[in-house]
Amino acid sequence: MTSTLPTGQPWDVVVIGGGPAGFFAAIRCAELANAHSAPQRVLIIERSRRPLGKVLISGGGRCNVTHACFEPAQLVNYYPRGGAALRGPFTRFQPSDTVQWFEKNGVRLKTEADGRMFPVTDRAETIADALLEAARREGVILWTETALLGIEKLALEGDSEQGFQLRLRRDALEREELLSTRRLLLSTGSDRFVGQLIASLGHTLIEPVPSLFTFNLNDPRLVDLAGVSVSPASLRLLAESAAENPAVLPQQGPLLVTHWGLSGPAALRLSAWGARWLYERGYRAGLLINWLPGLTTDSAFETLQHQRSLPENARKKPAAHVIFPQIPIRLWKRLVEAAGIRESQNWADVSKVSLRRLAEELTAGRYQIQGKGQFKDEFVTCGGVKLDEVDFKTMQSRRVPGLFFAGEVLDIDGLTGGFNFQNAWTTGWLAGSALGR
Ligand SMILES: Cc1cc2nc3c(=O)[nH]c(=O)nc-3n(C[C@H](O)[C@H](O)[C@H](O)COP(=O)(O)OP(=O)(O)OC[C@H]3O[C@@H](n4cnc5c(N)ncnc54)[C@H](O)[C@@H]3O)c2cc1C
Repeated sequence: MTSTLPTGQPWDVVVIGGGPAGFFAAIRCAELANAHSAPQRVLIIERSRRPLGKVLISGGGRCNVTHACFEPAQLVNYYPRGGAALRGPFTRFQPSDTVQWFEKNGVRLKTEADGRMFPVTDRAETIADALLEAARREGVILWTETALLGIEKLALEGDSEQGFQLRLRRDALEREELLSTRRLLLSTGSDRFVGQLIASLGHTLIEPVPSLFTFNLNDPRLVDLAGVSVSPASLRLLAESAAENPAVLPQQGPLLVTHWGLSGPAALRLSAWGARWLYERGYRAGLLINWLPGLTTDSAFETLQHQRSLPENARKKPAAHVIFPQIPIRLWKRLVEAAGIRESQNWADVSKVSLRRLAEELTAGRYQIQGKGQFKDEFVTCGGVKLDEVDFKTMQSRRVPGLFFAGEVLDIDGLTGGFNFQNAWTTGWLAGSALGR
């Protein structure tokens, strides 16, 4: 490998990271500058051979672009980290703007029953192609197979502004290169190496840890029940107090039993809110499941007592007679067994103590999380650049003038459902708007 000094004029804007945030920022920047007849030289630098890699694999290959939630005050509630900082940005670019942007760029989105929005083609390539085409149209230059290795602040010749000198590895050309730029946008997602470079520039990095994962459990009540789902169920992490763990609030939604434990929206939401707390405990924690949200142990107990007292139920076997129809029979059998009720017993023979235990199993079953699994449709990390070090009107660093951030590189992450891409679109659009002016 050889090193060369930077040649030629500095770039106006260099974007490191050809993901959704970087593309959106670069396109917006070039579009604004072109519209004002003051074109800028905008370069995206991407380490992989193919840009927009995560877009292509997102949402199970369908790309869950955004969520049909058009009220900023409501939208922020879907971000376990970063919601408050996004409040202002969402008043400037929110899901309805995302829908319009893609529509203008030839992509129609559709809304599914749960609010998730996908391209009507159900193909993630449609989204990636639209971004690539818009970048090409606006004259954005893309270098792939090029990795950022180093950043230095630079006083640009004949310019009162400060710029940046970047050290790059250009894999296809088998050499290292230096180039300079007036302004720099970092949109490298959760890359740890770039995180270190950001810290060396004077920023605080919150340690990245996974969010949006499934739970591994090895519990006899759930063995061989893979595929059984309850909708809705409610989950809560067991902690001493809310002060110890802010994620003790229950999360409600469809819950799916898997070969390894639990998945489905309720589990994923809980994993997001409890991401850091669970990480600190090595993904071992107590879990409380209410299979009948809306019912307390007392109210479930009353219903069970009433059902037991009915003459027509007296000779029925509890294991085969589901009292609450939302509980699938296979799960019901396990909960009845866990309550100590034998298969041969009739309702009339079930003691008050066993009935109470069944009510507890149904509404406050205690389980043990033993590890984390992977959710293949969406995955994100929490952590990144500390938010109060960034001006969320422009996405410019408050510490290093001329340095901007967008997307997952920031300490922002959302629940599953299109909220993570919306963060990329919104912060990318704001950064691009500031850079293109
Ligand atoms: C399997 C999966 C499915 C997902 N599905 C969804 C979904 O359906 N909906 C949703 O909202 N979210 C989804 N997400 C989350 C979403 O993909 C991310 O939140 C989003 O991609 C973040 O965008 P970004 O541009 O900030 O970062 P990224 O998409 O991570 O892009 C960063 C880019 O920077 C490049 N890079 C890193 N370091 C360097 C370097 N040193 N030099 C040059 N380039 C570098 C990387 O190669 C990468 O291309 C999914 C994530 C995964 C992993």
